[in-house]
Amino acid sequence: MSQRTPRATNAGITIGAIVAEDCGVNLLCRCGHKTSLLPAQISALAKAETRLADFKRRFKCSMCGRLGSSTEIQLKTFTVPDSLSNRRPAPRSKH
Ligand SMILES: [Zn+2]
Repeated sequence: MSQRTPRATNAGITIGAIVAEDCGVNLLCRCGHKTSLLPAQISALAKAETRLADFKRRFKCSMCGRLGSSTEIQLKTFTVPDSLSNRRPAPRSKH
């Protein structure tokens, strides 16, 4: 009997995969401090093969010092709106 349990995709996802999909991450601390990181900032902080879980663990709240390895800091990915993504400078002709 081989029953496969679906893996939680989020836990094993890598920084490279997130950046490739133009996703940013929000880190939300229990103290209310919130940090948003855009793909460019994320790739500057971590290697592409770094897992998201490890990235979170490295994080420390600058307000209260809580650690990312605890459950008191939550990490969520979000899709960067087109207007914020400057990977493709829209060729717009001005008059
Ligand atoms: Zn905090």
